[in-house]
Amino acid sequence: MGVSAICGINWGDEGKGRMVDYLATDADFVIRFQGGNNAGHTVINNYGKHALHHLPSGVFNKNALNIISNGSVVNPEALVYEIEDIKKSIDFNIKLLISERSHVIFPFHLLLDCYEEERLSDKKFGSTKRGIAPVYSDKYMKVGVLMSDLLNKDYLYKRLKSNLDFKNQIITKIYHKPQIKVDEMVDWGYSYGQKLKDYIGNSIPILKDALKNDKKILLEGQLGALRDIEFGIYPYTTSSSPIAGYASSGTSIPPFEIKNVLGVMKAYSTCVGEGPFVTELFDDTADKIREKGKEYGASTGRPRRIGWFDAVASKYGCLVSSATEVAITLLDVLSGFKELKICTEYKIQGNKIKDFPTTQYLEIAKPEYIIMKGWEEDVTSIKKFKNLPENAQKYVLQIEKLIETKIKYISVGPERDQLIIRD
Ligand code: GDP
Ligand code: MG
Repeated sequence: MGVSAICGINWGDEGKGRMVDYLATDADFVIRFQGGNNAGHTVINNYGKHALHHLPSGVFNKNALNIISNGSVVNPEALVYEIEDIKKSIDFNIKLLISERSHVIFPFHLLLDCYEEERLSDKKFGSTKRGIAPVYSDKYMKVGVLMSDLLNKDYLYKRLKSNLDFKNQIITKIYHKPQIKVDEMVDWGYSYGQKLKDYIGNSIPILKDALKNDKKILLEGQLGALRDIEFGIYPYTTSSSPIAGYASSGTSIPPFEIKNVLGVMKAYSTCVGEGPFVTELFDDTADKIREKGKEYGASTGRPRRIGWFDAVASKYGCLVSSATEVAITLLDVLSGFKELKICTEYKIQGNKIKDFPTTQYLEIAKPEYIIMKGWEEDVTSIKKFKNLPENAQKYVLQIEKLIETKIKYISVGPERDQLIIRD
């Protein structure tokens, strides 16, 4: 059956959850390979509407094992809450494995996020304040705590003591805030470890076996390529790597097993948080798209910034995430516009460029547009590409040409089956 990665191509919120939920109906494994509960993956199916934060979007398939992998970071309190919440909507036992190697987000990581944004004031990066940057910093400083550490109180104490001895200096002397008590954090971590202990385990042999038995495995990215720490709009990125390349080290699945990468992109652009956003709109068109597309963050409720489709950024997203095919989502939101614009080039210091540049140039880039004719018709129940209004077909085909990647799926609504599949 093979391994597929499903990755965001833009700035996040492209509808990855919606696509994973669709593809997961016959999957054996669905794995979140990076990130934490800064994600908000909205899924609408027979079990209702859910915004998934930690849980992979395969939780609604009772036969799939959902894995939160070693590349992920876990807030155990938030995860316990999310599991309890999902249990109310499903009529089977959730099948979940949390890698013993995933890193733990503690309450002090959330505090550090807030203290740092406060210190940065108007120079802030737009953190989701879920402690993601502080926990990944701890991982790479080698002072982090693994999920398996929560199950051994003495070891947990040792890990937290050495971490907090240093961190409390920063908290009291730089941020001028009260110090964090090691014992309180040990009790907190240990008690959540006990609540989650049946889910914590070693995913490596399970995945090795799964590959041997040719199981269907989906690897779910948690953000978009343009927020990738390696290739995104640094420093306005997340602290991990949501591109398909990381799905291998984030899970232990060999890179050569990932044959298929589905890049998910929106039919227009949205962006939450800070950073350059070349095609951003500030007029009535933005408001119309925001209201129609319900463009408010699933995790934070923040209004999303809106822009025209950016082919420079999206082609780059496909390139760095090695997309073999694309799903374009929210096409239905564009019904009712006379004209639609697509950015095909950036103008920077008098030069026209097609290759997505580094952040300092993005900040001064101006979009060059082509204009496409719009369509009036509602498309939310269309199932075949040929039944889309002619101008909608042209719009999709124009994008396909510009991003140089086959558009296989066209999503025309948020529900599982509101999807056009092209042969
Ligand atoms: P993710 O983080 O990539 O999983 O995306 P989000 O769930 O944060 O944001 C996508 C939003 O668009 C959600 O509210 C989805 O329910 C919604 N959505 C997904 N696909 C479609 C679509 O084709 N049409 C419409 N109208 N909404 C969609
Ligand atoms: Mg989201």
